[in-house]
Amino acid sequence: MAGLYLHIPFCRSKCIYCGFYSVANLRQKEAFLTALKKEILLRRAYLAGQPVRTLYFGGGTPSLLTGDEIADILQTLTDTFPVERDAEITLEANPEQLTPDYCRTLHDLGINRLSIGVQSFQDAVLRFMGRRHTAAQALEAVRNAAAAGIDNLSIDLIYGVAERPDDQWAEDIETALSMPIRHLSCYALTPEENSILYKQIQRRTHAPVDDEQAARQYGQLCRRLQQTPFRHYEVSNFAVEGYESRHNSAYWDHTPYLGLGPEAHSFNGQSRQWNPANLGQYLHNIEEGIHFEEQEMLDDTALYNETLLLSLRTRKGLDLPYIQSRFGAERIQQLLHYFHHSVNPSFYEEEAGRLRLTESGLWFADGIAGDAFEL
Ligand code: SF4
Repeated sequence: MAGLYLHIPFCRSKCIYCGFYSVANLRQKEAFLTALKKEILLRRAYLAGQPVRTLYFGGGTPSLLTGDEIADILQTLTDTFPVERDAEITLEANPEQLTPDYCRTLHDLGINRLSIGVQSFQDAVLRFMGRRHTAAQALEAVRNAAAAGIDNLSIDLIYGVAERPDDQWAEDIETALSMPIRHLSCYALTPEENSILYKQIQRRTHAPVDDEQAARQYGQLCRRLQQTPFRHYEVSNFAVEGYESRHNSAYWDHTPYLGLGPEAHSFNGQSRQWNPANLGQYLHNIEEGIHFEEQEMLDDTALYNETLLLSLRTRKGLDLPYIQSRFGAERIQQLLHYFHHSVNPSFYEEEAGRLRLTESGLWFADGIAGDAFEL
């Protein structure tokens, strides 16, 4: 089984917190689409004929593509790779593009999952973040998508925003729960190094992010969602049973995937390759038939560390018999010794061959995994 990821590197403007690569104009959209189709053919052997179970249009803003452009890409992909008939096909979309017509077009093209960048239902917070939509547009977008028959809907929200106190965050959670969604991704506001917010904090025109507020609002979120059908299945992700993101779950399970477009990464089980985070350089590389910009071979230690990090971020946790058979009994002994002696017992549980973080432990997942890394 394998996955396909397409990075669509265009946005109308840059949101202040965003660290993903995109350009804030559409001038090279046509050249990009031509290159993307070339790249699909260039990389056709990468997945060695494995069936493709998930297809993900990320970015950037994939909803800036027209229906015809998406249809053309899908046709090239299905002509080139064995995409399964019931593959999960996700498209990231911004609310302002999700008109009733566009949603129907996406549905008719076979897009069966939308990940909608709502971020907040408060206009002041949206303006602060540099989002182009209003709260009313976000509500309308979700309803339009549901009315078009796309039943697997996810929205993204951001918490830990100084401009939104806890009571307003609680309102945002309630509004999200009143929507016809099956999946919720919630991220703490993080000033990524190449983001506008990062520069504002450096220049002291914005206060640093308040970690205590973020932790408190994460707790609010977890407690409220415990009273709903949403299950917390990864640090930042909650889903009604059966609606967990297949694409992301495969990534966390180390399933091979091919990433296409600028900044996209690929993974084949032993090594990782990536494209330049630069549209001009990407277009040049594809023109020259260059498969990727850089590559990293993952040795046993790197794969082990990644397995720890990715698995501990999920509620499924670590599969101890798998770790033992894949990485050796000595590592299991060291790992269990670390947990039993250095990790707060309320942060993890061991059951039926699995070691998983509890809901309170998940907040510290990256630190707990990092301390267990083999150097
Ligand atoms: S958050 Fe989304 S819409 Fe905003 S700049 Fe980043 S990729 Fe573009």
